[in-house]
Amino acid sequence: MLKILADGAIQECPLPDLPRVSSRHTYPVYHKAIPAGMLVVNSFTDEVCVVDRADLEAIGQAGVLSRLAEGPLPEVLIQDADRSAAKIKASLPFEIAFCPTYSCNLRCTYCFQQTDPLLDKRVISKENLAKFLAYVDAQVLQARASDPKRAVVLQLFGGEPFTLATKPVISEIFDYCRSRKIHVAATTNGTGIGDFLDILLPYHGYIAKVGITIDGVGRFHDSRRKRLDGQGTFDKIVQNVNILIRAGIKVMTSLTLDRSSIAQANAFFDFARTQGWIDNPCVELSVARVDDRKFETGYAAVMSESELLKEMLDLNARARLPGNVRFAFLKTSFDLAKRFRCAFNQNEVGRERFRYCWASSRINDIVYVDSALDVYRCTYTPGDKKFKAGSLDGGFSLSAWHSHGTWGREECGDCPIGGYCAGGCKLSTQADFKRNCADEKRNFENLIENVIGPRLPAVTRDQDR
Ligand code: SF4
Ligand code: SF4
Repeated sequence: MLKILADGAIQECPLPDLPRVSSRHTYPVYHKAIPAGMLVVNSFTDEVCVVDRADLEAIGQAGVLSRLAEGPLPEVLIQDADRSAAKIKASLPFEIAFCPTYSCNLRCTYCFQQTDPLLDKRVISKENLAKFLAYVDAQVLQARASDPKRAVVLQLFGGEPFTLATKPVISEIFDYCRSRKIHVAATTNGTGIGDFLDILLPYHGYIAKVGITIDGVGRFHDSRRKRLDGQGTFDKIVQNVNILIRAGIKVMTSLTLDRSSIAQANAFFDFARTQGWIDNPCVELSVARVDDRKFETGYAAVMSESELLKEMLDLNARARLPGNVRFAFLKTSFDLAKRFRCAFNQNEVGRERFRYCWASSRINDIVYVDSALDVYRCTYTPGDKKFKAGSLDGGFSLSAWHSHGTWGREECGDCPIGGYCAGGCKLSTQADFKRNCADEKRNFENLIENVIGPRLPAVTRDQDR
């Protein structure tokens, strides 16, 4: 039997014996016949094995599976995961996100926020801004009580944080952050940065990162990310990205792909080369996935994570992806993609074992606070009252998020991919559990079939020749 270790190394080892101790547990395992024998994945113990035909014939499929299904009791796995999460948590900055307004100067074709007629788009009032900053003050004091040097990051989000209407608020936020030595990060459409250089440039050493979505090159980008009057935004965004980079500010461009835009990936990396963004330490070229987490857009061009992964790997095989490309779309597929060395710099530091994403994990306590002082947990929810976690005035709780994981639902604890999928995206589960579950299972099959299968150790295929 071959074991594929977490770092991708391959170890030849005998099949484990059946356990003699009762302090072991039997987990559901994923298995698939392959030319050399059988691929077995225990997503709970995170073990991946290729069992050769000789073992299969000698012990039989049921015998092989019962041996590879064994693992420590769930409470032991959970304790281990808790311990490593606590260790990571202590090493991370304390973060809080702020939406000064839900107003935006663009109307992107797939935006999940701006089409809501009930969205209150007013800029935060002076009174609420003072309350928000008092809250941040208290949190920062608490976060730095045990470690006075702990970094704190205030993330600006929206709507669009950089418009002329929000400038007085943003100016006050930067003054506040300067006085408390707080870093600032921003997610922006990138069009209004030119109006904020007097604030951004003097503070450049304290700006953690500016994230800007670029959907492709030139007219393609312009067809999706438009101003209110229908004008395109590509040239202005590129100009602003270059200003930030020249000032030494880290920029993350986010290329958000679906079936209709996948051909833009190559064009975008070619364009990035002309701008000097490739392997530039100030630039991270993030690749994201257009998705429909709440099943509300009905957008037919959405790709699953394994479909997008396959496309990107094929692209990499034709022309090597830049070293500063970072995938930002792997969830259920992440552990296997990393093991088979095709996760391309995706860093899931805020995600715990047995949780689908950072939002259902407890490592990063970040919440989004809006102009009404309402509190939201995940990036896709600010402004959507269905997902409100509470408010600064009335109190809020993340317990519903933290209880969403592998053992939060019986089906998931009994599922062969339960250790990786962990119940899936909480928003999708809340919208339609069955549909999301079927999507996740289909995604995993596709991952095994089209990404992992072709990467299984050559020796197993050699045996078959
Ligand atoms: S959502 Fe479905 S695929 Fe995911 S862990 Fe639960 S049962 Fe398994
Ligand atoms: S719950 Fe997690 S996976 Fe789902 S949209 Fe929010 S952050 Fe993304």
